[in-house]
Order: sequence, then C-alpha cells, then structure tokens
Amino acid sequence: MTAKSGIPYKTYLTEDQMPTAWYNVRADMKTKPAPLLNPQTRQPCTAEELSHVFCDELVKQELDNTNRFIEIPQEIRDFYRMYRPSPLVRAYFLEKALGTPAHIYYKFEGNNTSGSHKLNSAIAQAYYAKKQGLKGVTTETGAGQWGTALSMACSFFGLDCQVFMVKCSYEQKPFRREVMRTYGANVTPSPSDTTNVGRQILKEHPGTTGSLGCAISEAVEAAVTQEGYRYVLGSVLSQVLLHQSIIGLETQKALENLGVKPDVIIGCAGGGSNLGGLISPFMGEKLRGEADYRFIAVEPASCPSLTRGRYVYDYCDTGRVCPLAKMYTLGADFIPSANHAGGLRYHGMSSVLSELYDEKLMEARSVIQTEVFEAARYFARVEGILPAPESSHAIRVAIDEANRCTREGKAENIVFGLTGTGYFDMVAYQKFNDNQMSDYVPTDKDLEAGFSKLP
Ligand SMILES: *Cc1c(COP(=O)(O)O)cnc(C)c1O
Repeated sequence: MTAKSGIPYKTYLTEDQMPTAWYNVRADMKTKPAPLLNPQTRQPCTAEELSHVFCDELVKQELDNTNRFIEIPQEIRDFYRMYRPSPLVRAYFLEKALGTPAHIYYKFEGNNTSGSHKLNSAIAQAYYAKKQGLKGVTTETGAGQWGTALSMACSFFGLDCQVFMVKCSYEQKPFRREVMRTYGANVTPSPSDTTNVGRQILKEHPGTTGSLGCAISEAVEAAVTQEGYRYVLGSVLSQVLLHQSIIGLETQKALENLGVKPDVIIGCAGGGSNLGGLISPFMGEKLRGEADYRFIAVEPASCPSLTRGRYVYDYCDTGRVCPLAKMYTLGADFIPSANHAGGLRYHGMSSVLSELYDEKLMEARSVIQTEVFEAARYFARVEGILPAPESSHAIRVAIDEANRCTREGKAENIVFGLTGTGYFDMVAYQKFNDNQMSDYVPTDKDLEAGFSKLP
C-alpha cells in the first residue's frame, strides 16, 4: 500500500544502512544525569564498586558521559541481523479509520520471539558477560519480556541465566515462564526463600505477590554471592538506553530515506529504555540545536513517576541494596494497585530521561488503563497487530495527537514506538473484553506513603 506521496506501508533499512555504533545521548546533554551513589557512603559509585555487580564493559558504558558513539561489536550486529532491521510502518489504516490529516508512523519492535525491544539490550549484556569469562547472569523480570529476551541471549552465548520473576506474574503468566525455561533459564518466583532479602521480605509481608523492586534485590544478592556471576538489568540504566538507541538510529535513517521530518515522537515509559532509545538520536539533534521535535513519554496513571513523582535520589530496589539514583520516583516501596494489568510498574525512571524531562526537553502524560485497552483494541482491529498493553500507552497518545491534528487541521508527522506484541497478556485483554477492567488512580495520600520513605 502506497499513498500518493509515494511513502510505502513498510520501510526497512538495507544491511549496509544498519547502524554500526550506538548513540550515547549523554554526550550531548549540557547537564549530565546525576551519578549513581553508593547507598552507604552517599558518594558517586566508582567503577570498582559497580564492577562487583555489573560486567566491566557495561560499567564503562554506564559511566560514559562523553563518547557520542560506541561501536556495536560484530557478534552483536550478527545477532541483530536475525530480527533487525525492524520495520517503520506508515499507519495508513489507522489514519484512514481516524479520518486524520496527520501522518502516523510506528517503529515495530515485536518481530522476535521475546516479543519486545528488550532483546536489543539483552544480547549486548549477555555478550559482554561472556566476553569477560563469566559463568552466568542473574536478573529480575516483571511481566516476563525481559527474562524471555535475556534467556534467548544467554542460550545464544552459552551463559547460565537465573531469573527472579515477580510472583504474581510467575503464577499468572505460566507460558512466559515456560518460554524462558525452554531457552534454558532457571526461573524462581520472587520473593523467594533462596536469598536473605527474599526471606526478610516474606517475613515482613507474608502472602505478598512481589514487586519488581523486590525481585531486583534478590537478583543482585544472587549475583554478588555466586562466583562468576553478575547482575543485569533490562531498563532504567543508562547502558540500556544506549543499547536501545538502535531503535532511534534505525528510525532516524528510515525517515531520512523517506524525506520525512517528525513533529511529535511518542513512546511508553516504564523504566524509560524504549522511549530513551527511540528519542535519543532526535534528542541529540535538538540538544545540538539542529532540529526541534516534541517528545512525549506516556505512563500509566496508576504508576505516574514522571507526572506525579519527585525528582530526588531514591533506592532502585525495595531491599535497598542497589546504588541510589536521582530520578523521578514514587518511592522504592510504591506498588501499583492490584487492578493494574500491564507492565510499566517500576517506581522510578531512567535518570537520563528524568533530567531531560526536568529541563522540559520532553513532555509526559499519564493515561488510564481502560482507555489504553480501548486504543489497543482499536489498533488491533485496524492495523492488524495485537499490541502489548505497555505499547498501547503510546498508541493511546498517538491517537489523541492525531485527533488533535484533525481538530486543528494539521498534517503533522507523528512517530511512535510499538514496543511489542500482547499474546501473553490475554488475561488482561479478557478482563477488558468482559468489561471487568477498572481504573485506579492513586490519591495524593497514597503517593505520600511512598514519598515519606525517600532517603
Ligand atoms: C518492558 C517493556 C516496556 C517498558 O520498558 P521500558 O524500559 O520503559 O521501555 C514497554 N513495552 C514492552 C513491550 C516491554 O516489554
């Protein structure tokens, strides 16, 4: 399908146009994101301290605020070839259904077995762990996408993979768990009695269904107490945004091939990795004064870290074993209400995106989940792809922006990140289809409880 403008329905880069280096947006930021702090000394973490938890090369990337481009090793580029380039789709069917003069594009990251963009960073992190001669890595997973991506990457490089999976997901998403096990990962429901911090949390909150922050604490403990293991994280960290810049670099090149300049770029925001990756190269242009774009981060109203959080140093995990990060946060103990269905449930936000948002270089919006699922179903019916609930936050706001263009009679170019597919989220879709999905937006008093325990 091609419109009069000659823009094809799908655009792919050719192999020789594929990025060979990741883009590090921190190099172009005038105010750098605040450094990670050691929770005991409250001094910036040194490379030496971080190297007990993370692989050496990833520590280097985490602390690198100066190199604009970091070469993608050949082995990682070879793996990327299995599922990249991802398509940039012109959403002609969506535009037609909405009757909008806006031109809508989406970058689709769901075309791999893990079903999301997370594989872009998983493969990089597994590669550096293997190169360092490690035996394995530990991690946490919430909805399961990160664990799936990491288990694929670890099996490719022959690394052991230990995943602490938030207990409610472990029970509600048995199929995700089995995908991970098929790729050879060891999956433990969290909190578990296999770690000190897990046992402590179980004692204090018997019957808890777990949280990401708690699973992180367990995974970190498992990494530092086993010889030859390190911890890896699928979002939030600056190194993850760096790896995810592959999304934005491909998008930038594809749009350039088409001669299209975006007006608005939209992404869902959990810990900020897909959004950070998508917008980074464009944000770089904005920071260098070469172009101007609007960027919109979309988060659930039930976990509103950017729109209602505080920009302060906070713990990254419930067990308070990880470094402190300065970020927009709801407090490390914040857990979204039980009726919150999708992912995007982390209490904080990437410190890179937090700083950009604080400098008003990026906007943020929160949306309620029934409206997110309405957008998801609408999109599935017109564009064919069954979107992940997380991705559908971006769809919601892309539709809202297109409708604004209709009202204003503007033919703006809207680009959004479609981060993944929703095949494992059918319990949530079922609730929505049965009209049993409800919304809960935390009150100021609810949020106060989380803020009161900020360090
Ligand atoms: C993990 C995930 C997200 C959110 O994570 P970010 O780090 O904020 O990108 C969004 N969409 C999908 C499909 C995911 O799996």
